[in-house]
Parts: sequence; structure tokens; C-alpha cells
Amino acid sequence: MNKNKIPQILEDLVDANLILFNEGVLDAFGHISVRNPEQPSNFFLARNMAPGLVTKEDIIEFNTEGEVADGDTRKVYLERFIHSEIYKSRPDVMAIVHSHSPSVVPFSVVKTSPMKPLCHMSGFIGTNVPIFEIRDHAGDDSSLLITNNKLGHALSNTLSKDTLVLMRGHGSTVVAPTIKQAVYRAIYVEVNAKLQSQALSLGPVEFLSEGETKTTQEVIEGQIERPWALWRARARQAQKQWIDFY
Ligand code: MN
Repeated sequence: MNKNKIPQILEDLVDANLILFNEGVLDAFGHISVRNPEQPSNFFLARNMAPGLVTKEDIIEFNTEGEVADGDTRKVYLERFIHSEIYKSRPDVMAIVHSHSPSVVPFSVVKTSPMKPLCHMSGFIGTNVPIFEIRDHAGDDSSLLITNNKLGHALSNTLSKDTLVLMRGHGSTVVAPTIKQAVYRAIYVEVNAKLQSQALSLGPVEFLSEGETKTTQEVIEGQIERPWALWRARARQAQKQWIDFY
């Protein structure tokens, strides 16, 4: 593997943080990680901070147990075990977004209305979206957060081979084979949730077929550079306007 890949991946990870904040998917909470291509058991994730403020200096490397791999002593995210446990069980996953994006949360708590893909931009969601019930693993008085390896492992089991897992009363986690696809998917999970709520209020909904989910995903995600360039330019421009206040 080319060593030069690491600086590019870290730059993309910074941009990904800014984009997900700027597009309204992450606020002060939630995070995105990317697997280390040189050391695939490890991954990169920002220190404990708001995604919209992340710079290269804020990125920390973590190991397969979700602990800091490079001796960094700065405060880290409580829910880093979401990332470590999914990377451990899914070698195909190269990037992960954990988000609390607001339109998605209702689908994590309304049992009669499962989230499904309804347009060509959200085929990656697939025909099965599991919901993680933390009470099954942490009792009925937990913080709902994935704060240790055991809960991360349980979440990863619920995700199984799928792309998206909803977390009851909390948010969602989406996985992808590249960081750009992870950003795209996190944005369109939120878009699909908004559209699905609107469609359901109008009447019965026709969702994508299994074949349509596969074909639309292939065709749309083959054009990932187009939205990435736009989102990155918009996010960098937005950050320039207010970073001096930080
Ligand atoms: Mn969370």
C-alpha cells in the first residue's frame, strides 16, 4: 500500500467532518471514522470535539479495542466502540458515520413504520434496516450510548451484513467501502427519512424493489466525486467565515 495514502485520507477525514456538520447531519455530536489502510486493524477518528471544528491536528489513531493507538492523551469520544467493533467484524467497511440526524430518529422508535429506501438516491439503504434495542444489552436505565466494547459488539451484530442500523431513541450508524460514500450515505439517510415521513403522511408508499436498490446504488455512487467536490467547497467556504471565532 502506498504510504502517501495516509495524508490524503486524513485530509478527506477533516473535510468529511466539516461536510457532515455543514450539511446538517452532525451537530456538536456524532462522528465519522476511516480505517487505516496501512494498519487495517486501526482507524482514525477526531478527538472529543464538535465535527465542524476538526482540523488535521485533532485526528487520533485508535486500535481494534477502541483505545488510543498513538499515546495521545486528549479526551476521546465516549462512543468510539461503535467504530472499533464494526471494523473488527466487517473487513469490507472502510468508513463509518454515527449520527443523531433528526429525521431518522422517529423511525428508530415507531415500530409500525420501518425505514425503507423510496428514491433512486437512497438505494444503498437496502431492503432491511435493523433497529438496535439497547435495553436488550444494557437494561432499562442506560444512557443509550455505546460506551464499551460489549455494547459496540452487540450493535455490530445487529448491523450484521447491512449498511445502516438505527439505534432506538438515539440515532443511526451507516457504513461504506470509502469515506466519500460514507458521507454521501449519511446525508441521504437523513434525506430519505424526511421524504419517507412526508410520503407516509400523503398515503400508502411504493418503495424501491430489491433489484432497484442494487442498480440505483451502483449508478449513483459511481458519480461520488460530483457531490463530494460541491459539499467540500461549500463546507470549506463556510468554515472560513467563522473559524476565527473559535
Ligand atoms: Mn450517539
